[in-house]
Amino acid sequence: MYQKPFANLSFRSQVVAGRAATDAPSNGLVAPIHMATTYTRDESYAYVSDYVYGRSDNLTLRDTEAQIAALEKGHSARLFGSGMAAAAAVVLGFDQPMHVIASSSMYYGLRNWLSGIARFGHTIDFVETTDLIAVGAAIERRPPRLIWIETPSNPLWQVTDIAAVARLAHAADAELAVDSTVATPVFTRPIELGADFVMHSATKYLNGHSDVSAGVIVAARPSELWSRIGMLRAELGAGLSAFDAWLLSRGMRTLDVRVRAQSATAADLARRLVIHPAVASVLYPGLPDHPGHAVACRQMRGGFGGMLSIRMKGGSEAALATAGAVQLWRRATSLGGVESLIEHRASMEGASEACPDDLLRLSVGIEDPDDLYADLDRAFRALGLIAGHFRDPSSDNA
Ligand SMILES: *Cc1c(COP(=O)(O)O)cnc(C)c1O
Repeated sequence: MYQKPFANLSFRSQVVAGRAATDAPSNGLVAPIHMATTYTRDESYAYVSDYVYGRSDNLTLRDTEAQIAALEKGHSARLFGSGMAAAAAVVLGFDQPMHVIASSSMYYGLRNWLSGIARFGHTIDFVETTDLIAVGAAIERRPPRLIWIETPSNPLWQVTDIAAVARLAHAADAELAVDSTVATPVFTRPIELGADFVMHSATKYLNGHSDVSAGVIVAARPSELWSRIGMLRAELGAGLSAFDAWLLSRGMRTLDVRVRAQSATAADLARRLVIHPAVASVLYPGLPDHPGHAVACRQMRGGFGGMLSIRMKGGSEAALATAGAVQLWRRATSLGGVESLIEHRASMEGASEACPDDLLRLSVGIEDPDDLYADLDRAFRALGLIAGHFRDPSSDNA
């Protein structure tokens, strides 16, 4: 079973000490993977453990959930096969038609799914949740049962004040759920700031190695809604597999060192890129002129995360050409892994105010910051973006 770490342990030690269980029969340091999908009864036809059937529950899953709940200072956690499945389970856990208020800047896949929840009888209002007056006005217009925020938000890294929105939500008798994928529990623990639920795409920083798709919801306390979310997961078979839960638990042992290194490198790159002549602006909550900096300083302790975006002076063509010219940065979607990734988000989700087409999203890995900077700088120079002679290389054959 999962070992509760000693009291008063720092987060950094807890990540390691609060690992999933040891292997009882052999006293191995690392827990085994429990693969059984069914559990036997004894002669009196009684179950001898808490487990009945694999679709509903599994020991490896529970151990990894306990590990995450402890890191988020929550009551309990449930793992799903993806971040999307985890988020959807919260919305679908509401058994009456309801109104939702959600951040207008957020992960595009979830924003899309939320835009379609009218088919479940729900209504939704996307609001600039960085603006507390706008949140208050939206609550007045139509009282929500659920407020969903993402902070820092994809791909602009806007910062929403969790404690302030929690107060507004609770005054209106609504639940607050926070997508904390980018902040990670290393820097922000939304439940300590008043959130009712924390969601992660565990595919990203929690696992950290780009080899597991997973999502998790952590609840601040037990509730009827929380039980329905658990039931839904069991009924749909949406729980994470034991093997993936084990990999996730393994990845999380290095969460603290990975995320702190990624954040320090992101901060360093942001400081260097903001004065680079090829770059129009850098979006990173750690920069003093970022509009969310003051709130980020309050609710992100010890770092501002490993994600940043740059907007190119040469527009969309310069952004795409840069993505094509880098060598160390890998051209791929997703984030939070140990390899640094570069992405032209507008190619993925279409250009919009929430995703300008001159923007490159950078997921900083654990490589040497000087190498990461040099690779970008070399690409900018090779493309003539510094001297202002940029030519789109794709037009060379014209
Ligand atoms: C990736 C991501 C999601 C979706 O998670 P999946 O694991 O891909 O389903 C949700 N929110 C944020 C912030 C993400 O980055």
